[in-house]
Amino acid sequence: MNEAELAEASLEEVSSYLQRLVQQDGFRVSELCDTILKKGVMSRASDIHIEPNREGVRVRFRIDGVFHDAAYLPVELHDQLVSRIKVLGDLLSHRREIVQEGRVRVPVGGNESDLRISVVPTVAGEKVVGRVYSVHAAISDLNQIGYTGSMLRRLRSIMFDLEGLFLLCGPSGSGKTTTLYAILHEIQREMDAYASIITIEDPVEYEFGKWSQMQVNRQVGFDFAAGLRASLRQDPEVIMVGEIRDRETAEVALHAGLTGHLVLSTLHAGSAPETVTRLINMDLEPFVVASALTGVIAQRLLRRVCNGCREQIEVDPNKASLIKRLMREEERELTMYAGKGCEACQFTGFSGRIPVAEFLDVDEEVRGMILEKARTSEILRMLLGRGWNTLLDDGLGKALEGLTTFEEVLRSISLREVL
Ligand SMILES: [Zn+2]
Repeated sequence: MNEAELAEASLEEVSSYLQRLVQQDGFRVSELCDTILKKGVMSRASDIHIEPNREGVRVRFRIDGVFHDAAYLPVELHDQLVSRIKVLGDLLSHRREIVQEGRVRVPVGGNESDLRISVVPTVAGEKVVGRVYSVHAAISDLNQIGYTGSMLRRLRSIMFDLEGLFLLCGPSGSGKTTTLYAILHEIQREMDAYASIITIEDPVEYEFGKWSQMQVNRQVGFDFAAGLRASLRQDPEVIMVGEIRDRETAEVALHAGLTGHLVLSTLHAGSAPETVTRLINMDLEPFVVASALTGVIAQRLLRRVCNGCREQIEVDPNKASLIKRLMREEERELTMYAGKGCEACQFTGFSGRIPVAEFLDVDEEVRGMILEKARTSEILRMLLGRGWNTLLDDGLGKALEGLTTFEEVLRSISLREVL
């Protein structure tokens, strides 16, 4: 298949093409490998998985957060395929018992995508995962991320103050890095004359920003905390730290936020209120947390219903009563939508993703609760009393508009705290 044919083909067609290809005499493993990697990038996969088991090799693409089968190959081809990828990634092809990481460039349609390869030994052979880094995610515009207008206004009022610590939380693959980059691009564009920007990342995923980027290197003791301290010597206005996972990094980040720097980072937590208590529980001075933290966004990425085939569907009564309970609105008329599947969405009913988010402003009342070392449930209860919009509220609202589905909302957002 040439590139144009490959772009037009469905995943099933590519899969059966590959079955036929590997049976031909004199077939070349390089063609098999190229086809898999190219089609993965073309399908907007976030990662490509090559998984051996006793019977065969499964090739799967994760697209919009969900796996799709791309090929099932004879087990005899596994070593050749992995070796080929290792050659492309400049890895040691004869070493099969160690963990290896590398990069492969995949040319598609005149562009090059960067694939970060990781090879891990399993009992059935080496498993390969390639994460696709697309230029698109790195240059996204804050207006196009999919936040509501009020959320954007609050975010901008915090970020253009150029001080304090602002955090994003959510599982990996929830679009945190995309948002952070979009914030940096906008600050760079609007305030270039007033702001010097530096980032500390692990890894440096994209090299497109007009700012300085530092790469964490733990082998020489250059971790997030060390990078943060080093950057402060140059007194930048804006510092982005890839992740806060220990007390030391949190402490330096908070102090930087208190002394006239805007610090942007991510923290692993399920919700915005939980992020606040996570910080408190890191044994940090509550007064420092209360004074430095300006706001938190918690988010998930949900699959977006395809515009080409969206239609209203019938509401299942059981589901409807659960949803009304979750929305705290028993009388509400519900409308539901789904994509019935069309060519544009490869018959999945979904195309692309949208963020579902909650925004916590650290105001007087939240500050007071931080000083009292309040629990997550107490902060949440106070916020709900004020009519605060949770992740779930945002998700259900977007489902009612037909942007996503109720199933996506229920799949992605934990109901533990609300039920
Ligand atoms: Zn469609």
